Amino acid sequence: MAIRTRRWTTGTIAAGALLALTACGSAAVGHTSADSRRTASPSASSAAGQGAVGGGGQGGATPSPTPRATSGDIAPSGGNAAVDPRIEYTIAHAPGEKNIALTFDDGPSPQWTPKILALLAQYHAHATFCQIGPNAQAHPELVKQIIAAGDRLCDHTVSHNEQMSRTSVQNQTREILDARTMIETAGGPGTQVGWFRAPGGDFSPVNRHIAAAAGLRPLGWSADSEDWKRPGVPRIVHNVLAQLRPGAIVLMHDGGGNRGQTVAALAQLLPKLVAQGYTFDFLDK
Ligand SMILES: [Zn+2]
Repeated sequence: MAIRTRRWTTGTIAAGALLALTACGSAAVGHTSADSRRTASPSASSAAGQGAVGGGGQGGATPSPTPRATSGDIAPSGGNAAVDPRIEYTIAHAPGEKNIALTFDDGPSPQWTPKILALLAQYHAHATFCQIGPNAQAHPELVKQIIAAGDRLCDHTVSHNEQMSRTSVQNQTREILDARTMIETAGGPGTQVGWFRAPGGDFSPVNRHIAAAAGLRPLGWSADSEDWKRPGVPRIVHNVLAQLRPGAIVLMHDGGGNRGQTVAALAQLLPKLVAQGYTFDFLDK
């Protein structure tokens, strides 16, 4: 708890620019640099950091980002040395052998989320659902189903602005905190939202700060299925398997459009993963 966040510096901008190149749901841009960077840091820090982040948020130990409250160019600072290590990317999966984290973004969707939940249940698999606040608000029954299934909730903001880091701190704060409230309200008393995924992977020190102060850990990914491009089921399956390794965080989507290909791909992937000995356990909820 003694660790305090230092001020962000311009030296972090280059790293942040790489992060800003990632996307989950729109422009076809590269993920490689950011993804490898994401996965490079944290298994060690995740165990040490997760409690600290939550504690920092609850206890208010994290300094407010408001000193940079103008809507300026705080955006593309990705940061490492100048950022509290507790707010670095952390890994969502249990560090055990052949354990991976499945993540589904942009829902919940009454059309697709139940199909994904049914497949997960069939293979005794679990996942993290990164929800857009109004979608959760519109479909509280789906949020409750996800909780009942033992799956995990992640804050994916209110409006899914993939350039949110370019907006004001006040706006980013609203995007993150309002979405969390919407998801919590939809899930009912006791609902826990422990994670934050910036739309399009548009993480910055500012929005990570805001999230961490609210007890939300940043959630990146390492295996992009690119399902949002709807490239065909075989391609989605290939994309995941080609990037698979113990500890992978797999990015897929249960909302944001027609996810028929995602569902079909998941139906092929899950038996393959189980046959290969992969598990889907959480280190924490
Ligand atoms: Zn998204």
